[in-house]
This record gives sequence, structure tokens and C-alpha cells, in this order.
Amino acid sequence: MIRVGVAGAAGRVGATVCEAVESADDMELTGRADPQLGVALADILGDCDVVVDFTTPDAALDNALACVRAGVHAVIGTTGWDPEPLRGEDGANVFVAPNFAIGAVLMMRFAVEASKYMAKAEIIELHHDRKLDAPSGTAARTAQLMEGDVPIHSVRLPGLVAHQEVILGDVGQTLTIRHDSTDRTSFMPGVLLAIRRVGSLEDSPVVGLEHLL
Ligand code: NAP
Repeated sequence: MIRVGVAGAAGRVGATVCEAVESADDMELTGRADPQLGVALADILGDCDVVVDFTTPDAALDNALACVRAGVHAVIGTTGWDPEPLRGEDGANVFVAPNFAIGAVLMMRFAVEASKYMAKAEIIELHHDRKLDAPSGTAARTAQLMEGDVPIHSVRLPGLVAHQEVILGDVGQTLTIRHDSTDRTSFMPGVLLAIRRVGSLEDSPVVGLEHLL
């Protein structure tokens, strides 16, 4: 059994991760850390093999460092922070994904491929209005991987979950590649896969679900 703790356990995604871990036959939920629950990450680290972090851009790096220094592997879904300072920390592994949905990973792959053949591209990313960071981690990563300079437009509205459109243009034609997460359960197969694989990574930090597929 993999002992799993969740940081941000009272949040929108964290609560869904807790349910997914509790439903997995090979995992045990051994801690829920969240200011809203009055439980700090440090309080649960001793009971965990892996911590999953869906918190805030301000908290993610400190949480990851605390995990690694305690010998606990970290799976991080929080966006809007830079994992580079984790390089060289070798107490445990860190896996980071700006998007854990398989459809989003494919959308990024197809967009990268298309950008090699079409003249220009722009990204429109659309999220719920309580998202803290803009542009989204998924859009920033997509633009980074694509050919050329790709502008990003961010939309924040109630009613949305997580959506992205990559529009490519060339003479007399456009190509649109779109992904929609209509429910936060879309992220859970990717999160469970990362929990199972993070302990055997050969490098750390590793960024992107495509590295586990
Ligand atoms: P949310 O509902 O605001 O949840 C975040 C939770 O983390 C809140 O309960 C917050 O408490 C708590 N928190 C803050 N600092 C903490 C700390 N140091 N330790 C433990 N818990 C802490 O946000 P969300 O919608 O679940 O999103 C969380 C993150 O995941 C965002 O960065 C979002 O962009 C990202 N996300 C990633 C993916 C992906 O596939 N990678 C998918 C969806 C969302 P307070 O409210 O008291 O601050």
C-alpha cells in the first residue's frame, strides 16, 4: 500500500484527490493538510510515502521542499510557480504536471506538432473565476513547447472549469485544437498514475504527464 497525504485537501481539486486515493486498492489516505482543516503539512509528513499538492502558487515550492527534505515523494498539480530550485535536492522525487488530464496532454502534443507546419498560433485558455494564476500553467507550457512566439489570452468566468483552445492560422485556413475538462475527476487517472510512479523516477523534478505515458 502506498501511504498518500494530500496538501490542499479542503480545496476543489484536493478534495477530489482524497476521494480518488480512498477508492484506489493500492493506496491508503494517511493525511489531509489544509489551513481550512487546521492541519499543517509538517503534521502529516511522517505518515506519508507520497504527498499530492494542489494548493496555491505561494505554497507549492515550500511544500515540495518540506516533502523532499523529509524523504517523502511529491506529486504537484499546483500551477503558477517555478520548480527549478528543487533541482539538486535529492532526498526524494518530485513530479510536477501543469495538467493531469490525458486529453490536455494530447491537445498539447497535437498543438506542438501543428506548430511546425502552420505560420502562426495563439492560445485562448478559459477557467473558473477563482483561479489565482494567469496565464494557466497548461497554456504557458503549451506555448513553451510550440514553435514560434505564441500569445496567450486568459478568460476567467463562473461556470467554467478548465478549457483551452489553440488556434493556428496560415494562408486561407485555420486549425483549432480544443480541450475541455468539464469535471475535476478528469485529472484523477493522471494523479493516481503519478503517485504510483513518482518513487521510481530517474530524475527530479520531472515536469509533464507525457513523461509517464
Ligand atoms: P482551491 O480550491 O483554492 O484549493 C487550494 C487549497 O489549498 C485551499 O483549501 C487552501 O487553503 C489550501 N492551501 C493553501 N496553502 C496551503 C498549504 N501551505 N498547505 C496545505 N494547503 C494549503 O484551488 P483548486 O481549484 O483546488 O486548485 C489548486 C491548484 O491546482 C491551483 O494552482 C490550480 O491551478 C491547480 N490545478 C491543477 C490542475 C492540474 O491538472 N495540474 C488541475 C486543476 C487545478 P486556503 O483557502 O485557506 O488558502
